[in-house]
Amino acid sequence: MKYRFALLPVLLMFAVPLLSPADDSSELESAVRSMKPDSRFRHDPFILVALQEALAAKQEGGGGIGACLVRESTGEIVARGRNRQYAPYFRSDMHAEMDLLNRYEDSLRTVKGSGNPRQRAGLVLYTSVEPCPMCLTRIINSGVVKMYYAAPDPEGGMVHRMRFLPTFWKEATRGRDYAAADCSPAMRELAARLFRHGRIKTLGAIE
Ligand SMILES: [Zn+2]
Repeated sequence: MKYRFALLPVLLMFAVPLLSPADDSSELESAVRSMKPDSRFRHDPFILVALQEALAAKQEGGGGIGACLVRESTGEIVARGRNRQYAPYFRSDMHAEMDLLNRYEDSLRTVKGSGNPRQRAGLVLYTSVEPCPMCLTRIINSGVVKMYYAAPDPEGGMVHRMRFLPTFWKEATRGRDYAAADCSPAMRELAARLFRHGRIKTLGAIE
């Protein structure tokens, strides 16, 4: 019995940060709503869209990650996506980048000639968190040659480990730009907080 009580301070040590009011849902929502692009950082307008999607994902019960696809020449947002892995029902493939590319590719299925991946050359994918191995491979396969993420994911991200990709996939990244976004520290931090919040909610499940 006394061992149980002895564990209490240890458990509290872990529980207190998780219960921190700083990452309360309504606080995160107001942080996203009040966030404004900083003109010193060229990717801010698009990372903000990804953060808005991340917030929506979190509010729906998914992981707090969002993404958008942008036509580089005009700045037009051609598709948005968010983590739908846990809601409305469990789908292990529905990470934000997968949802985004599904939506974009589905939207093109009736457009003549749109199956040519080279037509993706003018598109830039922005995501709130560094893509995992599944999503990075999908992005490579999609033909999108530029991808920028806000928050790094040292544990699950694949972009900083691209050198470990199988040869075929590594070769396919040649000449492409997949990297950390040129976004403001405030946006990067908010992206990380939305991501952490989602992880806590799902008790550390993969997002
Ligand atoms: Zn992923």
